[in-house]
Amino acid sequence: MIPVTTFAGQRVAVFGLGGSGLATAEALIAGGAEVLAWDDGEVGRAKAAQTGIPVADLREADWGRFAALVLSPGVPLTHPEPHWSAKLAKAAGVAIIGDIELFCRERAKFAADAPFVAITGTNGKSTTTALIAHILTVAGQDVQMGGNIGRAILSLEPPAPGRVHVVECSSFQIDLAPSLTPSVGVLLNVTPDHLDRHGTMENYAAIKERLIARSGMAVVGVDDDFTDAVAARRAFAGRPLMRISAAHLLTEGVHAEGTKIFRDGSEEIADLAGNGSLRGRHNAQNAAAAAAAALALRVPRATIAAAVKSFIGLPHRMEEVGRIGSTLFINDSKATNADSTEKALAAFPGGIFWILGGKPKEGGIAPLAPYFPRIAKAYLIGEASEAFAATLDGHVPFTRCGTLDVAVAAAAADAAGAGEAVVLLSPASASYDQFANFGARGDQFRDLVLALPGLAPAASNRGN
Ligand code: ADP
Repeated sequence: MIPVTTFAGQRVAVFGLGGSGLATAEALIAGGAEVLAWDDGEVGRAKAAQTGIPVADLREADWGRFAALVLSPGVPLTHPEPHWSAKLAKAAGVAIIGDIELFCRERAKFAADAPFVAITGTNGKSTTTALIAHILTVAGQDVQMGGNIGRAILSLEPPAPGRVHVVECSSFQIDLAPSLTPSVGVLLNVTPDHLDRHGTMENYAAIKERLIARSGMAVVGVDDDFTDAVAARRAFAGRPLMRISAAHLLTEGVHAEGTKIFRDGSEEIADLAGNGSLRGRHNAQNAAAAAAAALALRVPRATIAAAVKSFIGLPHRMEEVGRIGSTLFINDSKATNADSTEKALAAFPGGIFWILGGKPKEGGIAPLAPYFPRIAKAYLIGEASEAFAATLDGHVPFTRCGTLDVAVAAAAADAAGAGEAVVLLSPASASYDQFANFGARGDQFRDLVLALPGLAPAASNRGN
């Protein structure tokens, strides 16, 4: 845990008692603050009370006595409307901050020179964060990874000289961290997302830009207009910058060409070939960013090359489950919309036995039509079946399977003997019609595949 000492002896309100809120309250108490915590839900309040965190309805609190409100990132700060706790704090002139802000203040106080890598972007944050942490671990560094991935930031080990924190930041977390000053800031990409919570695209992009604005080194993707403009502003200001691209050659910066990552146009840094979890151009962008961040931290080229080969990847994102003969089984359950599924379909030239469906999202799978020629057959599950069948009809052979177990059995049987083939779960839909979340859907797919006769599990599924 990172005891938060910067509020010692002061009263702090904590709203939101999920994992990060509970860790925040405990860290504040450990550092000597007087905490009053609340959540609109009974479950969080009960958990806090069990842990000995003082719980009280903040609507009835004396806001004039609070030094700050620490808000969970899931709670609306501005849009569609500020949460009642944010309104009360604003009315009383109380600062509203998040757990990453508390971390930044501790780092500034105790280990201002300790390396701190912060990662954001609309897509690819978790993969890039995990890959950076892996490269630094292979390089023998003392690495702490968390934030929007894995553990809440305040439950990590404290900042210390020589210890590097690798932290994934959502736009909500950046919005709550005014003194975010990473030694290396990574901004991957910005495409429309969460606009319900940020109002406009400009506001959303501006929040993302803040992560790199005060970073020592900025690693910025230049494959979309928003981040390309961010890089241009940074360059104009004469501040340290590494551009990264998976779309074109960069004579200065780090770019990906096929599976290879180059620095400054020609110096090969790493080759992703053979690493199944980093398939596709989107992952080349993530790997280019991770390599750039590692180079900024002076990790030797050979170490980066080796670490990229041994990176196992995250579950449910193009996760290689195993093979039967020439059939590969891929769990991409995290792909809950057509945009994400497009990345998966683009990674395979053909022979795709595609399992899709679930709770449909607006727009359906019509945008995926350019990839239909790559699909050998589609296997429909869940609520989206009829809508997806209508889009596929006449273009792709399909069968209605209803449930995932039926789909896996049918796809595996059809793929056997079809030559080079991939059975791909990339649902292009939310999971809530049949599963608790995308993780539960992916776990079931993995279990079903691992139980197939003759299945040779991939390295990540051999328990090592
Ligand atoms: P995040 O943490 O930002 O949600 P993840 O690394 O968990 O990102 O990847 C989630 C999904 O986003 C992947 O399954 C893939 O479909 C898509 N994705 C990953 N990286 C990128 C990228 N660089 N550009 C576009 N899409 C991506």
